[in-house]
Amino acid sequence: MSKTKTAIITGSTSGMGLGIARALADDGVNIVLNGFGEEAEIKKLVEEISDKGVKCHHNPADVSQANEIRQMVNDTANTFGSVDIMVNNVGVQYVCPIDEYPEEQWDRVINLCLNSTFHGTKAAVAHMKKNGWGRIINMASALGLTGHKHKCAYTAAKHGVIGFTKAVAMDLADMNITVNAICPGYVETAHVEQQLNEMAKSFNKPREKVKEEIMLEHHARKEFVTVEEVALMTAFLCSEKAVSITGASHVIDCGWTAS
Ligand code: NAD
Repeated sequence: MSKTKTAIITGSTSGMGLGIARALADDGVNIVLNGFGEEAEIKKLVEEISDKGVKCHHNPADVSQANEIRQMVNDTANTFGSVDIMVNNVGVQYVCPIDEYPEEQWDRVINLCLNSTFHGTKAAVAHMKKNGWGRIINMASALGLTGHKHKCAYTAAKHGVIGFTKAVAMDLADMNITVNAICPGYVETAHVEQQLNEMAKSFNKPREKVKEEIMLEHHARKEFVTVEEVALMTAFLCSEKAVSITGASHVIDCGWTAS
């Protein structure tokens, strides 16, 4: 990359967001980490990423709040001089059949998966337009392309993320700003650990059976996707070379949605 770029990755104190932050830092991109966690742990992550020779800050914005997302984006532009890459990565799950699905969980899942993606994109585009360059990555899921029992809010939100990605790619196509969605299958992160408990309850199966009989049942290749694989795909989409790739959904799901 020519000039040093700056990326905000929402939800990057663990899981795929952290993997993406590491991969972008390896490509020489300044990093704004975002997400929750112990102060000492976050400090260690900031130091680890800074050791790669880029600038790294942590911003504690809660992305369920639109004003906090806007503030994080504007603070980043003020501190680093630009916002070149926006990775809208935060997402949450709630597993429950439709007739018992709590209204507040529907609102929470839609807000954190879909509304936060809208607010993050809108705020970042204002800065990308000034520089005539930008990369927006929205973390969808295999469940943005197919349905899943007991996951109505997440499936709806991730389908929404893919539709949003296509529409915004059209808005920005002549501004040198690309917009892409990533659709992973199951990746072993804290998100999946928490789902194991909910799925064990919802499907009335022991946790270890949920992994094999429900999660990996969908994967044609009977393995979990790795954080590093998703991170490398994201870093490529954020590079100069990916200029012609926009409005697309990139599947990395061990063959799940091919079947
Ligand atoms: P994770 O649980 O490992 O990490 C979530 C991150 O988001 C953490 O850093 C956490 O602190 C942060 N976070 C949570 N709520 C937040 C909030 N309100 N404001 C700011 N930060 C917040 O998650 P993951 O598995 O890496 O998932 C990342 C994305 O990938 C999500 O959108 C998820 O839906 C999607 N996804 C995950 C899988 C999977 O199997 N893990 C598969 C497909 C898609």
